[in-house]
Amino acid sequence: MDPRLGTRFVFLGPPGAGKGTQAALISQALGVPAIATGGIFRDAIARGTQIGKQIGQFVNSGMLVPDKLTNAIVAERLKQKDCKKGFILDGYPRSLTQAKALDTYLLKVRSPIDRVLYFKVEAPVVIERMGKRRVCSQCAATYNLVSQSPKTEGLCDKCGGALVTRSDDTPEAIRKRLTVYEQTTKPLLDDYGKKNILDVVNASASVEAVARQVQGLCLGTS
Ligand code: AMP
Repeated sequence: MDPRLGTRFVFLGPPGAGKGTQAALISQALGVPAIATGGIFRDAIARGTQIGKQIGQFVNSGMLVPDKLTNAIVAERLKQKDCKKGFILDGYPRSLTQAKALDTYLLKVRSPIDRVLYFKVEAPVVIERMGKRRVCSQCAATYNLVSQSPKTEGLCDKCGGALVTRSDDTPEAIRKRLTVYEQTTKPLLDDYGKKNILDVVNASASVEAVARQVQGLCLGTS
């Protein structure tokens, strides 16, 4: 019997909660892609595309990219073949408008969300984590100077690229992102709770301990 508890997941929680790290880990086990809207946006900015030019200011200042554009990008991504079996949405939806758009789209293709994992962690912990976060300028792999430090200081283990601080991991942008999360994203928890598809992950634990919780909730193992 297939032990999986679903193949269509939403990872929701404040910035710095570890959603991206965990999505990358579990996506292999599930055999479905991890789709991070933040990653898609950063890539567009780095490549200087038309969309990248439109959204740079929003992302760098910690504001949300407008819903209409975000919804269109996600819908396009979900149409791709590798999402047939399922997906993990990391950082989307982030507003009620986005949640509605996602529901409408998934209803149309008759593949509703299986579970929403809420990465619960208090603000002081995520502020500390974001301050210590470094990302590879080449392949976007994420490190933490304390809990997941690279083997060689300043260099990516995977590709040797230079590690940099994310442009929105500045104190000012972090404050803005946390406010946006509290005001615009956190209300989604109510909706998903009412639909009985919400699970809570203690995201203040170590990467390994959180991974075990995520495996339990996505694969039915612990
Ligand atoms: P993240 O990597 O998830 O922390 O996202 C980084 C930034 O990308 C956010 O602060 C927003 O500016 C933008 N972003 C990511 N996901 C969304 C979304 N679902 N809606 C709007 N903006 C987003």
